[in-house]
Amino acid sequence: MNDCLFCKIAAGEIPCNEVFSTDNLIAFHDISPQAPTHILIIPRRHISGLDEISNNDQELMGELLTCAKTIATKEGLQDNGYRFVINQGSDGGQTVGHLHLHILGGRALAWPPG
Ligand code: 5GP
Ligand code: ZN
Repeated sequence: MNDCLFCKIAAGEIPCNEVFSTDNLIAFHDISPQAPTHILIIPRRHISGLDEISNNDQELMGELLTCAKTIATKEGLQDNGYRFVINQGSDGGQTVGHLHLHILGGRALAWPPG
């Protein structure tokens, strides 16, 4: 994807504050944190969002979730808890069209979402 912000971050063309990386995934701090810890984890491959994943992506999505859990633990969030969020489409609040999971923690998060 030529014009995708997160593809450019994954390729190292746009800098990020990286916290974790594998062959398939990269995680970095959100530029506009909504909690004391706010990290995004994304597949390196361009996937526009949850709506685009298929059965072929089961392994990747499993890796995404388990790596997110590893990051949450490394960030010290396990005792007080944390939240994972994937926004899909306009009603879901998605603003960047490359699949990403938000790792949020470090304060009590409100529910339900606005
Ligand atoms: P969404 O609203 O699509 O679920 O989340 C997109 C997230 O990407 C937002 O939390 C936003 O702050 C973050 N974001 C947007 N542009 C950049 C950027 O250039 N660098 C980083 N690190 N995060 C970004
Ligand atoms: Zn992309």
